[in-house]
Amino acid sequence: MINNKKFSIKAIFLDRDGTIVEEPGSLRRKNTSDADVDSISKLHILPNAIKGLKKMINMGYTIFIITNQDAINRGTLTIELYNKIENILTDKFGKHGITIEKWLFCPHTSEEICTCRKPKTGLIDSLKGEYDIDFVNSYVIGDRESDLLLAEKLKMTGILVKRNEKEIEKTRAKFIAENIYDACRFIKIIKNK
Ligand SMILES: [Mg+2]
Ligand SMILES: [Zn+2]
Repeated sequence: MINNKKFSIKAIFLDRDGTIVEEPGSLRRKNTSDADVDSISKLHILPNAIKGLKKMINMGYTIFIITNQDAINRGTLTIELYNKIENILTDKFGKHGITIEKWLFCPHTSEEICTCRKPKTGLIDSLKGEYDIDFVNSYVIGDRESDLLLAEKLKMTGILVKRNEKEIEKTRAKFIAENIYDACRFIKIIKNK
């Protein structure tokens, strides 16, 4: 944790589902009812995620997870289970020396019109009192257009983690990575410009 209030940081905001953990049902997108990690048995860290997180930390970035979890307000995921999943991941990452600075989640459904559901910026705005984020040198990495749009709104660089070939035909992404470890390759290139 950063004790020095308003210490300027370079951040990476990582989406959770489909980016660091498997999104259930991602191979059969039509079954949207199975898109949520709403049981421990559906929790699987994606290949290269640990490696990617380590690399990002070694490169000097502060890591935040930012995730839309509308299953909470749809009533299929309890906040207790959400927290339990967060704790499991915190433990696993910790064993690899990876610290997540903060986990940010929106529990609302799109119908609720909240200010925090990605691509809305509310969750990141809430950090501004505590952190001086160097947005121009910060990133959002995720598997959806909403992640890229969030990056755009805050003048960060967005990197898409590829879900399938079809989606990348119509993406706004300038940078398309295979996984978050692969995304570090772009960060290095952009940084050295
Ligand atoms: Mg996602
Ligand atoms: Zn919200």
